[in-house]
Amino acid sequence: MKIAIFGTGYVGLVTGACLANLGHHVTCVDIDENKINSIKQGIIPFYEPGLPKLVKNNIQKKRLQFTTDAKTAINEAQAIFNCVGTPGKEDGSANLEYVFQVTKTVAVHTPSDQFKILINKSTVPPGTAKSCQKLIKETNPSSQVQILSNPEFLKEGAAVHDFTHPDRIVVGTNQTTTKNNELIEKAKSLIRKIYLGRSRLYIPFIETSWETSEIIKYASNAFLATKISFINEVANIADIANADIKVIAQAMGMDYRISSKFLGAGVGYGGSCFPKDVRALANTAKQFGYTANLLTQVDLTNKAQKDVLPNKILNYFQNKIENKTITVLGLSFKPKTSDMREAPSTHIIKKLIQNGAKIKAYDPIAIEEAKHLFTENELQSITFTQSQKDATTNTEAIALITEWDEFRTLDFESLKIEAPNCHVIFDGRNIYEPDQVIEAGFDYVGIGRQ
Ligand code: NAD
Repeated sequence: MKIAIFGTGYVGLVTGACLANLGHHVTCVDIDENKINSIKQGIIPFYEPGLPKLVKNNIQKKRLQFTTDAKTAINEAQAIFNCVGTPGKEDGSANLEYVFQVTKTVAVHTPSDQFKILINKSTVPPGTAKSCQKLIKETNPSSQVQILSNPEFLKEGAAVHDFTHPDRIVVGTNQTTTKNNELIEKAKSLIRKIYLGRSRLYIPFIETSWETSEIIKYASNAFLATKISFINEVANIADIANADIKVIAQAMGMDYRISSKFLGAGVGYGGSCFPKDVRALANTAKQFGYTANLLTQVDLTNKAQKDVLPNKILNYFQNKIENKTITVLGLSFKPKTSDMREAPSTHIIKKLIQNGAKIKAYDPIAIEEAKHLFTENELQSITFTQSQKDATTNTEAIALITEWDEFRTLDFESLKIEAPNCHVIFDGRNIYEPDQVIEAGFDYVGIGRQ
């Protein structure tokens, strides 16, 4: 099938490359000309394991191309995916201007006699698909373009795998009308055909209304964020009550109704999805006249959690961290991605700098993205290093923020020699065994571990 994808970010590029790999002919469109030019040369603008190879292979097989020419891409495509960003606004609501821009462009460039589906893959509040369908009609009253909702559940760091092996495919259609039934059936059959790739044959396919589909995505992310804020809150209680959150979470997770996933206490969640999606769902509720207290608290608990580790550092040094060298290991919001959006590391580093600390920071992938998030003044207090060893040599404290695999095997014995003035490890993700750290001659400070 001929498919166009709007937006070549994490979702759009992965969707485009994976659909091309399933045999479709895909054209990816972006308004960012630099991005399109560099992808054409095989340079992927972010780190995502497996993606560069997939893009390169499918370009070579002439199933995947990139352009800024929206008109031609729309004209040639039977199905169009809308994968543009929906960033959070100041008030917590989702900014839908890019989604509507694409919708309008599709309406303008689709001749009235042509049937096409425009699939909203971006995460959007309930009512968006309906507004998009209305916008199509207003722009071109005789248009046959049908809007579908098909939220994406991939996670950065495992995006290619998640896209090709999803737990479910959710498709929302217009169920508020008895008119245009034939077009709606045609739209459903077309999207089923897109996903009828070999690897997707036995994947549950949930067909529902636009609004239900839109809320499924928000509710899924909000639930995972709730689990994280919940375990972080219990960790803070465990700290005071002299208990160990690792054992608590392990035992809780053995209950199949709870499951062990997303029960790791830490420095708070970040990224481009959980924070904005929790706020957007709460904001949508507010617009409907409902106060979503739980969601608001999940967000507030997470904001407060970002202060827990820097406060522990300040406490340990009795607020005297001026000119102290503190090493930060890991900057991206989670391992296996270069994404720095709402990464807890940014807040933690800024707070330590405000209190006079000098930072040595290392991340295997995210340093270049991280540099843009600090002011000139702040950058004067940060040294980004080329390796973990450079970061941990001659330091006075080590704070683990992002649990990249390479940090799991820190050699504490060598650390003692390379950093003789370092007497403490702050473990923001509870990845180390306190006994081993203490045995090597360091103090150990984790999250919710006494
Ligand atoms: P992103 O910011 O990485 O990429 C968005 C892209 O859209 C940018 O390249 C931008 O230039 C492009 N764009 C903006 N307006 C355009 C237009 N009019 N025409 C063509 N391109 C345009 O965003 P992302 O992380 O890929 O997220 C996209 C959507 O998917 C969001 O709604 C997000 O919530 C959702 N989502 C993201 C993830 C994730 O892990 N990143 C997972 C699931 C769902």
